[in-house]
Amino acid sequence: MRIIVCIKQVPDTEELGKVRINSQTNTLIREGVPSIINPFDENAIEEALRLKEKKGGRVIALSMGPPQAEEALRKALAMGVDEAVLLSDKAFAGSDTLATSYTLAMAIKKIGEFDLVLSGKQAIDGDTAQVGPGVAEWLGIPQITYARKIEIDDSKIRVERVLEDSFEVVETPLPVLVTVTKDINDPRYPSLKGLLKAKREKVSIWTCQDLSLEKEKIGLDGSPTQVIEIFIPQSLQKGEILSGETSQVADKLIKEMKKMKLI
Ligand SMILES: Cc1cc2nc3c(=O)[nH]c(=O)nc-3n(C[C@H](O)[C@H](O)[C@H](O)COP(=O)(O)OP(=O)(O)OC[C@H]3O[C@@H](n4cnc5c(N)ncnc54)[C@H](O)[C@@H]3O)c2cc1C
Repeated sequence: MRIIVCIKQVPDTEELGKVRINSQTNTLIREGVPSIINPFDENAIEEALRLKEKKGGRVIALSMGPPQAEEALRKALAMGVDEAVLLSDKAFAGSDTLATSYTLAMAIKKIGEFDLVLSGKQAIDGDTAQVGPGVAEWLGIPQITYARKIEIDDSKIRVERVLEDSFEVVETPLPVLVTVTKDINDPRYPSLKGLLKAKREKVSIWTCQDLSLEKEKIGLDGSPTQVIEIFIPQSLQKGEILSGETSQVADKLIKEMKKMKLI
């Protein structure tokens, strides 16, 4: 099996308290904030490695981002992926989800034959959950989102897909793109051997010249989305801490909830 995993480097949300917004440019100030692999993408890498362990084949990690996104790909190599490709070029800057998914899809076409493309269900910074489905559309292949279990049998895939309060089972022929949730597995830690190997491995860097791209579909020109405003919502209601004996606190709480017509 040939599996391609799309991974995005994102700011560590545990540090998000430290992320500030530039009010002039309406963009996040990322300086000084550590970067990690988008957590859902670690699940996607883990699933790819497990499928390879069962079925054999090759796992290729693919990311689009600035040069420092190579760190994320090195971690993927340390976890056990066979190959890593970074799409990095000033021409890709300013890409929205449409341009990002187009560029990733064109890179997947260049990689060549594949059975499965895996991505996270969403990125914890942009949070749109559009890139995986977008890539499937550009490639003209089926997509199954929000996977919590994947089984592959000959040329068919069967996926348990998480719904709000249940799940559904979806089957389709390969090749297919699947986006995964946290429920699917627990990502492995890179081994010491993996970390040493990843230091020596080559990450292929592809620029705009390496891909057959229509220039009007990439970067800012290929991005119809316009961000009007980004802001941190103000908290309008102040919380109240009830103190005293437990039974008194419970009485006060019940009174308050009745006043607010919550019970
Ligand atoms: C007008 C505009 C301009 C922007 N300019 C920039 C910019 O200059 N630089 C910038 O970094 N961002 C920029 N962004 C943000 C960028 O569009 C999104 O970060 C990106 O398209 C991914 O969207 P998302 O974070 O919502 O991912 P989601 O759709 O939530 O991600 C789902 C999954 O898709 C895959 N994925 C997402 N992004 C990538 C990627 N880059 N590489 C590999 N796999 C990926 C991952 O598997 C991820 O789990 C811009 C956005 C807009 C609207």
